[in-house]
Amino acid sequence: MSETPYSYDAPASQALFDRAAAVTPGGVNSPVRAFRAVGGTPRFMVSGKGAWLTDADGREYVDLVCSWGPMILGHSHPDVIAAVQDAVSRGTSFGTPGEGEVALAEEMVDRIEPLEQVRLVSSGTEATMSAIRLARGFTRRTKVIKFAGCYHGHVDSLLAAAGSGVATFALPDTPGVTGAQAGDTIVLPYNDLEAVQEAFHRHPGEIACVITEASPGNMGVVPPRPGFNQGLKDACAKNGALYISDEVMTGFRTSRAGWFGIDGVRPDLMTFGKVMGGGFPAAAFGGRADVMAHLAPAGPVYQAGTLSGNPVATAAGLAQLRLLDEAAYDKVNAVSAQIQSLVTEALAKEGVAHRLQTASNMFSVFFTDREVRDYEDAKKQESFRFTAFFHAMLAQGVYLPPSSFESWFVSTAHDDQAVQKIADALPAAARAAAEATAA
Ligand code: PLP
Repeated sequence: MSETPYSYDAPASQALFDRAAAVTPGGVNSPVRAFRAVGGTPRFMVSGKGAWLTDADGREYVDLVCSWGPMILGHSHPDVIAAVQDAVSRGTSFGTPGEGEVALAEEMVDRIEPLEQVRLVSSGTEATMSAIRLARGFTRRTKVIKFAGCYHGHVDSLLAAAGSGVATFALPDTPGVTGAQAGDTIVLPYNDLEAVQEAFHRHPGEIACVITEASPGNMGVVPPRPGFNQGLKDACAKNGALYISDEVMTGFRTSRAGWFGIDGVRPDLMTFGKVMGGGFPAAAFGGRADVMAHLAPAGPVYQAGTLSGNPVATAAGLAQLRLLDEAAYDKVNAVSAQIQSLVTEALAKEGVAHRLQTASNMFSVFFTDREVRDYEDAKKQESFRFTAFFHAMLAQGVYLPPSSFESWFVSTAHDDQAVQKIADALPAAARAAAEATAA
């Protein structure tokens, strides 16, 4: 772990991290939580209320991660907690169908017009994995197009991002994924429609689907250029492939109907997670009824889950979605815009080259003066400036995503007090970014 001036100002978190490292690889249950990109001691959180998190040392932070997106109403929203308590009091899992999962599916279908049917699962990874299996089963084709820098969970065939040039067959990105699993994945540069057309041209009748983040947030925020998603949809339609829009991050966050509510491009299949679970493990995939009809038990493509549609998770998700009306999105968008301006102002004042990129209320800062259109652009930023910026914000009580390749998230609970805390922390953090030097 690299040292930073702030590495040891969190003794209780450090003690927990040491204990964790003895029993868990790297001390965490999801790699980015380990602070490897920024160094220092990951903060172990003990509670959250509204826009605030409290760590094991008793320090409070304004949370700009929001559990990587789900907590759009802030932490411990009373209505969500009440719904969870009510569900828990009736039992935690039955392994049978229940009304809560029907109600959640109805709420989702009601919000997103192309979503005719949904199947509930427990994680975004399961959702994308199942959507790809269904697309392959439906089209009876094998190959999948994905884009470099788009993350769709840790699905074997999608953990392939390398490969330069058009239609390069992906090399597995991690040991444990075989060439066979990654070999049917074609990785293309994001925002490059020509590369997509070329891939269809080179593989006639072989491509089952194109999967893309509806608006990527996993290489930092890199929105689709105008017409890109429509171009993907058209290329799929022309070539008999399915267009899968991964809305795990954007779904029910960027608008009432997610990114579909913004660009209106009709996917054949969609995937969801994060916000729809209200902080619990609930996710989903769905779309065209004729495609979903191929899923077991209606059709031959197998998919299942012991905890799918779990009554507590669906109660939390439903309670959260029901609170997310237009006024709630207006509020999140407004506070996001406010924080964006404060960040840009502070960095500009210190003469720090940066690009703030947005997708509705999702945003991130790239330490570069060039527009970031794809993963190659994103990698050219001066990440060492982010490290300095991150630690200065953390030390002053603002919790940012511990990587420059992640979106920042806000909630309806980010009130004036939370915004003021961020505003107060920014000048010193911008100075730290300005003074940072590459290692
Ligand atoms: N798809 C996208 C766009 C995501 O951002 C993520 C997670 O960040 C996933 C899929 C995977 O979801 P999960 O972490 O719930 O497996």
